[in-house]
Amino acid sequence: MATNSFDLTRTFSRRSLVGILMVAVLMTWFHRWLAVDAMTQNEAQNNVQLTQVLSNTIWPRYASFITTASSLPYETLSQQGEIASLRRELAEKIVGLHILKIKIYNTDGLTVFSTDPKQIGQSKLDNPGFRAALSGQVASEITFKNQIDTFEGVRADRNIIFSYIPIYPYPNSQVAGIFEVYADVTHLLGKIRQTSYIVALGVTFLLVILYLFLLAVVRQADGIIRTHKIEERQTQNQVMQHLARHDSLTDLPNRTHMLERLDQALERARRTNTRLALLYFNVTRFRIINDSLGHEAGDMVLMEATLRLTDCIRGGDTLGRLGGDEFLVIVENISSVDQVATLAQRHLAAFLEPIEVNDRQLVLTPSIGIALFPEDADRAEKLIEDAGAAALKAKDQGRNRFVFYTESLNASSLERLEMETAIHNALSNGEFLLNYQPRISISAQKVIGCEALLRWQHPQKGQLSPDHFISLLEETDLIIPVGEWIIREACRQCREWQLEGLAGLRVSVNLSLRQCQSETLLETVGQALADTGLAASCLELEITESVMADEMQHTLTLLKQLKKKGILLSIDDFGTGYSSLSHLMHFPVDHLKVDRAFVQDITRNSNHAALTDAIIAMAKSLKMGVVAEGIEEEDQLHLLEEKKCDELQGYFFAKPLPPERFLLEAKQISQQLQNLSAETRNSTESIVMT
Ligand code: C2E
Ligand code: CA
Ligand code: CA
Repeated sequence: MATNSFDLTRTFSRRSLVGILMVAVLMTWFHRWLAVDAMTQNEAQNNVQLTQVLSNTIWPRYASFITTASSLPYETLSQQGEIASLRRELAEKIVGLHILKIKIYNTDGLTVFSTDPKQIGQSKLDNPGFRAALSGQVASEITFKNQIDTFEGVRADRNIIFSYIPIYPYPNSQVAGIFEVYADVTHLLGKIRQTSYIVALGVTFLLVILYLFLLAVVRQADGIIRTHKIEERQTQNQVMQHLARHDSLTDLPNRTHMLERLDQALERARRTNTRLALLYFNVTRFRIINDSLGHEAGDMVLMEATLRLTDCIRGGDTLGRLGGDEFLVIVENISSVDQVATLAQRHLAAFLEPIEVNDRQLVLTPSIGIALFPEDADRAEKLIEDAGAAALKAKDQGRNRFVFYTESLNASSLERLEMETAIHNALSNGEFLLNYQPRISISAQKVIGCEALLRWQHPQKGQLSPDHFISLLEETDLIIPVGEWIIREACRQCREWQLEGLAGLRVSVNLSLRQCQSETLLETVGQALADTGLAASCLELEITESVMADEMQHTLTLLKQLKKKGILLSIDDFGTGYSSLSHLMHFPVDHLKVDRAFVQDITRNSNHAALTDAIIAMAKSLKMGVVAEGIEEEDQLHLLEEKKCDELQGYFFAKPLPPERFLLEAKQISQQLQNLSAETRNSTESIVMT
């Protein structure tokens, strides 16, 4: 403990012990003073009583000698006969009492008698005690004598109380003479001294007990104070440590701390055999802002950047500031490079919105460099270095982008990023279009519907099929606005063809899970039908088994609401999911679409044929229609006809067609089907006839 700090217990002990000593001494002294005072009064009283006895017995006989003694020559006074008899009588009277000496004065102040003969004849007029007694008061005092003449000879070292006592021969008379009585109190003082010691011991003992009790309390208090001080120091240390490891402006971990964190994260990644990404974030225009608008504005920008980055990171990620406009994000446990690319994209997107500083709208142009463990480096410093180098490259390539340290990864991520950027604008650029694949009714032998299938006319890559971009639409949630467009466009197109001769034509639109979770679907569909004038019974929505599996209650409610409007519902790719019959029974479904995979080898694989039989039988029992997709060969067509499938769809009839070709081809297909059935009828008839 520091020498200048206050030690409560030690201070308390020292001062208390001094206090105890002082109190003990004072108490002893006070006790002695009281005791001596009481004893003096008591002994004075005894002296008065003794004098009363003496004056009663002796005074009448010696009164005239004493009062007239002044007229005798003082040298001869001691030789007078009365003196000797007085001495004898007085000595007799005081036997057994602690009286050492008696003196008798007359009112003139003359010492008429004294145990010490030398004193006889001396004047006492100037003595204050004598004068007090002359005025009728008793005056007593305590004193110590080395030597004193007593009735029994000279005695040494005596404590004495001597009293001047007036003598009244009869009540209310004048003072006739004065006695001075010396009582020996040496033994009483001894006793008083003894009791004083006992009192001192007692008081000290009690005080020591009190001291020990208080010492315990003080020690406890001292302990509490010490703990408090230690805690205070610990907090101070923690604050100091925090300051040493954090950036003072943003309170983010600083370079030193980030290195530690990265080391720990690398250790974890090694142990758990997982991957880790380090994002090196650079606000490119920051220096210009700092120089032109001042440091305060620069600080505000950095604070805002910190907030936005903090919003972007996931729970376990670590954000830190390297200094200046450079930030690091440690992303642990990454599953794919795409995931990191998406994260980096999110970080960039967070800066699209301008930052308001001093009434100015500033757009920051960040660039991100990404290094991966274990691909790029396995040490913290090297990983930071790599990510930094990648960040520089990103800056060179035109900012507002991210670059992977590894070139090959860079290419694939960039492609995806480019797709992602492009798809954002595809809807507004009118790059989406729908193709329509005809659907044939076996009983009607004509095209009774079509399935709307989405295409993206990519400016560079040409026309893309949905497999290339549907998942991207779903991940970016763009499927909601694009889906709305598909529904409206399909309804509009179908209605147009109806008016152009394909009366009662139905259109089927595919819905993804995300659309079915959206609150707006019901309204979108209702609005599309109302706006285009298409009958609800001419619109069919295709959902997959996965939609049914997700939140069954919500889906069920939605499907029932759609059904209530008169819209048809079908289950797409049936047979690939895990829908059970009992599960299916709850859904108000009109058609089951048997997946292409079964149809493909229905003529070769007996299992698939049996399964198709079962699906058809089940659908019939549930009063649902069965649609087979992916018919490519005539054999498949005949087999499905035999199996009493209701509707067919596939390349055998037509591929998905651009809208401008659909009307004509649909009519041709229907015509061919009519012809085919007529031929079949004729040939059957001719067989029967022959
Ligand atoms: P799907 O709903 O099962 O659509 C049928 C797919 O099978 C279409 O592929 C179609 O071109 C293809 N097809 C039809 N007949 C045959 C055939 O005889 N042989 C072969 N090999 N293929 C045939 P497409 O157009 O590439 O669509 C693929 C998937 O993309 C669709 O599968 C559907 O799940 C999804 N999709 C297409 N358009 C949309 C849409 O507008 N919205 C949503 N959410 N998904 C869509
Ligand atoms: Ca479909
Ligand atoms: Ca399908």
